[in-house]
Amino acid sequence: MKDLLWDEFQEAVQQGLVRHRSVLDVVSKFQEAGVRISRALAKSVTVCGCVSINAQKNEIPQGANLSLQEIRSYMHDHLNGDLCPTCREVIEEEVGRLLFYTAALANLLDINVYDVLIKENKKLAALGVYHMS
Ligand SMILES: [Zn+2]
Repeated sequence: MKDLLWDEFQEAVQQGLVRHRSVLDVVSKFQEAGVRISRALAKSVTVCGCVSINAQKNEIPQGANLSLQEIRSYMHDHLNGDLCPTCREVIEEEVGRLLFYTAALANLLDINVYDVLIKENKKLAALGVYHMS
């Protein structure tokens, strides 16, 4: 059974997109939404301080016969702390904007976002732990 929420969202975006209907506007707004997420995260680090980034090279022991699960344990996300409620709200809003323009772009290209989600989920299920991206 198909999840109607995604289809409803995509249809709502179709109805709600009035001003920026051109594919050029939608693509640039889509890209801008990704940039705004990065900017919001940077502000969480440098202005608010609720999270910090401590990045270094991932060091995987050489010569060890490690499973992919063990290798995963050596791969860091470089993120410390948790988003405060204010930063979480800002980033959620920006993620929402990204979803909006993802749906808008999909509408213009006659792509069903839910079908894409199903395909990606099947890929993840098939690849399991071997999915290394
Ligand atoms: Zn914060």
